Amino acid sequence: MEIGDLTKRINPETQIVGVFGYPVKHSASPAMHNAAFSSSGLNYIYLSFEVKPEEIEKALKALPVLGIKGVNLTIPHKEIAMPYMDNISEEALNVGAVNTVKVDSGVLSGYNTDVEGFLNPLSEKGWQPEGRKAVVLGAGGAARAVVFALLSSAVSEIVVANRNLERAGRLSTDMQSRFPAARVAPASIFDSLLFREISDSSLLVNATPLGMKGEMPLGKTDCIHPGLIVYDLVYNPNATPLLEESGKRGADTIGGLGMLVYQGAASFRIWTSVDAPVEIMKNACEQALFGRGK
Ligand code: NAP
Repeated sequence: MEIGDLTKRINPETQIVGVFGYPVKHSASPAMHNAAFSSSGLNYIYLSFEVKPEEIEKALKALPVLGIKGVNLTIPHKEIAMPYMDNISEEALNVGAVNTVKVDSGVLSGYNTDVEGFLNPLSEKGWQPEGRKAVVLGAGGAARAVVFALLSSAVSEIVVANRNLERAGRLSTDMQSRFPAARVAPASIFDSLLFREISDSSLLVNATPLGMKGEMPLGKTDCIHPGLIVYDLVYNPNATPLLEESGKRGADTIGGLGMLVYQGAASFRIWTSVDAPVEIMKNACEQALFGRGK
């Protein structure tokens, strides 16, 4: 956006929202949300705030004081901000992380829109989750949202594969206790039995950062088969080595950009009570990340 556009748009009535992260300068969220506000004719502006983890409490308490209507929270704030919320949505409680805060009459409400953001691209593919088996690579914050989203959608079996097996075990035990009817099992990414689990699955999700710099999150790919959806949460690059290899093996693929856009669209709706212009947000994201878009 040009500076000239901004001076026309900002006035005393402009509502402020934004993102707290550390670091945060790389974020595509300002471009995505500001494009959405402009196209919807909403008098809002979205700014990024570099907030150190030790200052998150002060920053959150300042929101009502400054009249800021809401923020997204990104690394490293999603979990550590939880104690400072007045209300927390059921999804955010189950995932153990807040990525969207709404401020209303001084009250801070925390939400997790990664769950909806993750599920929308899958339903666009027509994937029916009920009774299906999935393998999730990773056991960090994103993997927690993915495992919860899949179990909430009635997936019957999930294998959580991680480098640190103990961490996969903790995530599996926790989610198993929340969804006793399903089977949630940990695995090591180094265990060759993992490849058999993938062969038996209809969904493989990469929830590790491997792929951002050309790495593969899997040691072997001959378990990738037609009929499998391979969903990589990494959104930059758009086509990771895992997705390229999976496409060659006949699997259907989903990149991480859709999740990024849909989690933002859900935050937009929470703040404004207006449905988000998803295509505009996607184009703005592509422009910000890859220098292209419609
Ligand atoms: P996180 O909490 O730091 O977790 C990282 C996970 O990746 C852990 O399970 C970690 O394993 C594993 N990992 C990291 N480096 C590895 C390596 N060299 N080899 C094997 N495993 C490795 O991060 P996160 O927040 O879950 O994010 C994970 C990825 O998802 C990031 O790339 C993030 O950008 C992406 N993401 C995308 C979206 C979206 O909207 N598309 C949303 C959220 C996250 P250990 O436990 O063994 O360390």
